[in-house]
Amino acid sequence: MIRRVASVALIALVAVLAACAPVLTLTPAPAPAPAPAVPSIEQPVIAVTVDDIPEHGGMAPGETRLDLTRRLVAALEAEGVPAYGFVNGGPAQANRDDMAALEYWAGAFPIGNHTWTHANVNELSPEDYIKEIARGEPLLEKLSPAGDWHWFRYPWLEEGDDPAKRLAIRQVLASRGYRIAAVTMDFDDWKYADAYARCAVKGDGSAISRLEDDWLDAVRYNAEESRRVAKSVYGGDIPYVLLTHIGSFDARMFPRTLALYREMGFRFVSLDEAQNHPAYASDNDPAAAPQPTMFAMAQQAVDSPPYTERVPNVDLAGICNQR
Ligand SMILES: [Zn+2]
Repeated sequence: MIRRVASVALIALVAVLAACAPVLTLTPAPAPAPAPAVPSIEQPVIAVTVDDIPEHGGMAPGETRLDLTRRLVAALEAEGVPAYGFVNGGPAQANRDDMAALEYWAGAFPIGNHTWTHANVNELSPEDYIKEIARGEPLLEKLSPAGDWHWFRYPWLEEGDDPAKRLAIRQVLASRGYRIAAVTMDFDDWKYADAYARCAVKGDGSAISRLEDDWLDAVRYNAEESRRVAKSVYGGDIPYVLLTHIGSFDARMFPRTLALYREMGFRFVSLDEAQNHPAYASDNDPAAAPQPTMFAMAQQAVDSPPYTERVPNVDLAGICNQR
């Protein structure tokens, strides 16, 4: 996700530079991508996915990965949420606490592949990226002998900036029997991880309260924004696939987060059930041509404003950073 933000910044910079350059040719704006015709659904539903298992961001003093995984799993189980986790095998194998956390998660919920070291597809050759995918498979198999671990979530949500490379990796995913886990709801939970860890170290309760308020505001904002974007692209709700992470602040906030989604009228479904919807056809079949994401299609919608990224009310990089 950080990388995606960096890419957006780069695109913005290029756009500024382009705006300063003389216009030599006028090319017509590309035609909006045709919105796929898909049925909308009666009640909005969410499939919760949890990435970077077993290790994401800083921790509060005295906390372990196993502790926070237990609390996050308990919050999901208390609400009867059928979550799905995406695993980086490398950290798990390097650290006993990490492995205990991964085993705990896998005893409660299914797991899928998130590459061995959280690799960025844009920084590796296709061959090396495929090795990253393959290397995690024995561990996934061992931890979910009866489950279906053939789901893949691209780290950083980067699917490849080179079309040929992107297609080559999709072909390999298809040949190994994977479906791609999409993201159609995302409130940037990862931005809070290190801010919370710093405030926890300082014991700054009022700063933590501000983080909590801002987090819940982000949850609400982005849930409403996903619904608005789905309406502009598909004409109504689709089942949403929510991105979260196995972070310390996630564990703290999950009970209130899930309660807020319920209060907003959402119900929770499995990843399999959510992606059984036609909006996810190209994610379910990596051998098929990739489709733009819902958010990318919204950028081209002519009759409604595009997705608007929320600006946090808290300085997440600066909070609890003063010595
Ligand atoms: Zn990740």
